[in-house]
Amino acid sequence: MTRLLIVGPPGAGKGTQSARLAERYSIPAIATGDIFRQNVKDETPLGLKVASIMAAGDYVPDDLTNQLVSDRLEQPDAVNGFILDGYPRTLEQIHFLDALLAAQGESLDAAILLVAEKEEVVARLRKRALELGRADDTEAAIRHRQDVFLQETAPLIPVYRDMGLLIEVDGLGEIDDVSDRIEQALLERDIQPAA
Ligand code: AMP
Repeated sequence: MTRLLIVGPPGAGKGTQSARLAERYSIPAIATGDIFRQNVKDETPLGLKVASIMAAGDYVPDDLTNQLVSDRLEQPDAVNGFILDGYPRTLEQIHFLDALLAAQGESLDAAILLVAEKEEVVARLRKRALELGRADDTEAAIRHRQDVFLQETAPLIPVYRDMGLLIEVDGLGEIDDVSDRIEQALLERDIQPAA
């Protein structure tokens, strides 16, 4: 019963770390970006709506994003816990998630902030774009997404801090080391891995 989220600039390693956390804590990793990308690929009505927004590196409107998350969290595998990757990204999304969980008598256990410096993450994303051929990973979109993160999402960090949920972890270095740092920080809050 662990409810986590992971936040940080694009390229900080949220996807990699949340996949590991999912396994370690036996919870599904829910990445709104992945779900949107799948919809774009499948050319669903939602995908057709968001394709150009994503290609530009802008945020999908809150109402669409909140609905997507609300539907996903209703699925049986997420009832007892989850790690959200890339959501919430705006204040409105924070409040929506809060209310959604509160309506079920639940709340988040921790918000993990992966700290990474801008030029480092831009370099990582350029590499990933080459390796994976991700259509939304052009150089201009990469830089724009960093700016959008700083403007729209970085202001959420003090909110999580005030809620007493924030765990700050250095996102640089080996993947295993970052995972160890996260697990250690969670243990300090008495959040234990699955047996
Ligand atoms: P990501 O893979 O998390 O970097 O997300 C890729 C793209 O999906 C973002 O640049 C946005 O266009 C969209 N997206 C993902 N999550 C959200 C969110 N929580 N709010 C708004 N847009 C989102």
